[in-house]
Amino acid sequence: MNLDDLALQIQNIRKRVGILQSKSEQQKVEQNIELVTAVFEEVYLALEGLQIANENLQQQNKELSDAQQALVVEHQRYQELFEEVPDAYLVTDTQGIIQEANSAASTLFNISKSLLVGKLLENFTFEKELITFHLKLIHLRERQIPEWKTQEWEVYLRPHEKTPIIVAVKVAAVRNQQGELVGLRWLLRDISESKRIQAKLEWAEEAMRQALAKERQLSELKSRLLTTTSHEFRTPLAAIHSSAELLEYYRHRWTEERQNTHLRRIQKSVMHMTQLLDDVLVLSQDEMSKLGFNPRPLNLAEFCQYLLKQLKQYDGSQHTITFSYESQSTQANFDAQLLRQILNNLFSNSLKYSPIGSQINFFVTTTNDGAIFEIQDFGIGIPSADIKHIFEPFHRATNTSNIPGLGLGLSIVKKAVDLHGGEITVKSAINVGTTFRVIVPFASNVHNTYAEVRENLTTEDVQE
Ligand code: ADP
Repeated sequence: MNLDDLALQIQNIRKRVGILQSKSEQQKVEQNIELVTAVFEEVYLALEGLQIANENLQQQNKELSDAQQALVVEHQRYQELFEEVPDAYLVTDTQGIIQEANSAASTLFNISKSLLVGKLLENFTFEKELITFHLKLIHLRERQIPEWKTQEWEVYLRPHEKTPIIVAVKVAAVRNQQGELVGLRWLLRDISESKRIQAKLEWAEEAMRQALAKERQLSELKSRLLTTTSHEFRTPLAAIHSSAELLEYYRHRWTEERQNTHLRRIQKSVMHMTQLLDDVLVLSQDEMSKLGFNPRPLNLAEFCQYLLKQLKQYDGSQHTITFSYESQSTQANFDAQLLRQILNNLFSNSLKYSPIGSQINFFVTTTNDGAIFEIQDFGIGIPSADIKHIFEPFHRATNTSNIPGLGLGLSIVKKAVDLHGGEITVKSAINVGTTFRVIVPFASNVHNTYAEVRENLTTEDVQE
């Protein structure tokens, strides 16, 4: 029974009592007893009806208060769950304005819950991600998104006064009873740490891949080295063999000059083989790293002159070598061993790849920061397609088929230049000539004084 039924019932009783009252006024006294009895009956009936109505109402009240109690418990549970989820949890309206936030959200954004409420969620995203964020919102609003069925997506967020974080976002729809979208629920998980670990793992994987590739490259290098070196050794060995045989049989008949020609041929072949072996040794990774970088004070002018003297001896005056030296400072810090590797290789190439009788120019200049070495020849030149590969091990240009070589010298030069923190460039034109330019900075990390070093130098070192 509800309140309307009760009112109807009371109205009925009133009507019936009213009828009895008017009857009592019209009837005689002897009939009053009957009337009173009838009134009592009516009143009893009415009381019974009211009693039932009262019980019904009480029952309804109890149900209502039970339902209210259940609602309070339910709300409390929701609040507890909302609070206890380890991830940040937000409720926004359809525009993305935050309406509710849990403690994890407050920690994630580094703002108290009360300050979070009322803010636009997109205010915490990066400018470049705003458009994506907007599009996602539109997409979410327009599509009928089922509960938590939206795809997780990653977004960069800027917590208040903290470094940016990467967050995995999941959104669900909040609907009213009519099924209309009235808000959005957001679950945000900070995945910065797992991303960092993932990046580290990827880095480790990449390092491993590189190490394996290097290993493969090295073993390939070794096998190529073996084939090429054995092939390259044949020519100087044949020259040594034939000159030695000729000297053995004919030296007593030959003039001293002719004997010397063959002796020089033997010496030159031995030097060539030594150079080949040096290249092979230096190129092996271990030897190169053993070389290291050991700068010490060096008289650059004396060093270059000594190098040129050796070079001219080796060349046997087949080329004209000029030397220009422009420098204010006489003393600077260099790694003499690396410098020798660089210049010897460049010089032996310019002699090898330019015709007998041609000129080779050697320019050395120093600036405030370092030295510039230029070696210019007027030889066969390097085809433009080969230029970008000449510093790779074993790469030989297409125009060198008749000229012996391993294709290792320039890769050694490059490594030595890198170790010295310098740079190397090349300019070349076919049948015009080639110029290599090396810039080497002065090294500063020298602990010994020049005087201390000089005391420990051998005669050859002093020539440097
Ligand atoms: P190699 O001289 O033993 O072949 P390098 O590594 O010293 O090996 O040189 C690589 C290649 O670069 C040479 O094969 C040659 O094609 C080219 N090259 C280097 N220097 C010169 C130069 N001065 N003139 C012409 N070509 C050169």
